[in-house]
Amino acid sequence: MNFTIEHVLIPVDQGYEEVSVQIVEGRIAAISPNLDILGTAIDGRNKLLLPGFVNAHTHSSEMWQRGMIPPYPLELWLAELYDFTPLDPEQIYLSAVGTAVETLLTGGTTVVDHLVLIPGRELETVAAVVRAYREVGIRAFVGPLIQDEVFESGIPCGGTEPKHPTYLRSAAATLEFLQETIAQFHRPTEGISIMVAPTGAQLCSDALFEGCVELSDRHTLCRHAHLLETKAQKLLAHEKYGCSAVEHLKQLGFLGSQTSLAHCVWLDEHDIDLLGTTRSTVVHNPLSNLRLGSGVAPILKYRQAGINVAFGCDGAASNDSQDVLEAIKIGTILHNVTDLDYTHWVTPRQAIELASLGGAIGLGMAGEIGSLEVGKQADLVLYDLTNLSMLPRTDPIGLLVLGRPTQVVDSVWVKGDRVIAAGKPTRINVDELRSQLFNRSQWSVNRKSPTVQQVEAHYRSVMQLPVLSIG
Ligand SMILES: [Zn+2]
Repeated sequence: MNFTIEHVLIPVDQGYEEVSVQIVEGRIAAISPNLDILGTAIDGRNKLLLPGFVNAHTHSSEMWQRGMIPPYPLELWLAELYDFTPLDPEQIYLSAVGTAVETLLTGGTTVVDHLVLIPGRELETVAAVVRAYREVGIRAFVGPLIQDEVFESGIPCGGTEPKHPTYLRSAAATLEFLQETIAQFHRPTEGISIMVAPTGAQLCSDALFEGCVELSDRHTLCRHAHLLETKAQKLLAHEKYGCSAVEHLKQLGFLGSQTSLAHCVWLDEHDIDLLGTTRSTVVHNPLSNLRLGSGVAPILKYRQAGINVAFGCDGAASNDSQDVLEAIKIGTILHNVTDLDYTHWVTPRQAIELASLGGAIGLGMAGEIGSLEVGKQADLVLYDLTNLSMLPRTDPIGLLVLGRPTQVVDSVWVKGDRVIAAGKPTRINVDELRSQLFNRSQWSVNRKSPTVQQVEAHYRSVMQLPVLSIG
């Protein structure tokens, strides 16, 4: 459908300009102060138009556990997460719908779902989220979260001899599953892309990484992984490889201009050089890093080194929401405490660019989305500047990034399709989603994770934390 957004504010070098924007066949056809109405007219008065953000790293099914995992570091948090992970594809579908809606309502038009798989029902898991994303209308990159080593191998052994059982699925079987996933679901022109997404160096063999590199080269797929999220992972990489995880991934050929790496908290100067020379993207997940005590990713150093940075919410159990604007705000101001030289700090406009164009670059989509440019696909978000949280009138982007914008998204288009109108999804019934999420859950406290009980003493010992007294 063709349409024209009239009298809308867009950011320009010298502030803001009121323009009309014509959309023809899903692409931006013209941006100018004086344009005829082409197709449907959309009233853009007192509204701000921006390119959609990329929620560049999340795990949709974590929504079922948000707000409930105790204050644990990643390794213990994961133990509890996996003990209670949802095993019903219908639940997976519903949390993907929820993740998509929350992403859209906070300015996102693309989601990267590093998808936790139901063992034995892997293809069904992917099918469930693909159905959800198609129904809601968000652009999605789905990276089945794969590993071929057991959970316990993700914790450093600290000098002890590790005796881990083999993982339930071999690298070869996992690569076969990926191949089938690509054949069934990879439809980039329809807005659904499959990516190769090993969990990370902490739980994957070289064979699995190499197989992923081969598949991504053969099918031109993006590559995605967690990278050095915690201090424990840094110790583990040295135990496992005798060098840093970044160096090892470089040797395996996993880094590159279509590789995005979530977290990157524990990198040293040499690692930063390697990300820069390979043109890899860092996905910054500030809320998760704070929630799990992982640390503060050196985002200002990455920017100075010319490394592309994008923002992610990370899964809803380590955030504990999917509010992209919130991730942008915290990810912007957090770094001011790391550098006294305020000229290095991220400005609100730079933050918006990282969230949109930065996200697009990491997915190899910079030619298609990520900015308001004629010829690009219409992945657009219209913000209501008369909302109470955006008043009084000062700097719209400053209010959006530094303020606490609440229900400010009026409309969202993905590939020119209006998927949010008047603040509501146009293709799914949110009341129905609410009742499904309500009815399939219960108020829940005091659960006990058996895996946490198994690994906690060992974790505390390798991290040199005092022994816990029993009782
Ligand atoms: Zn993650």
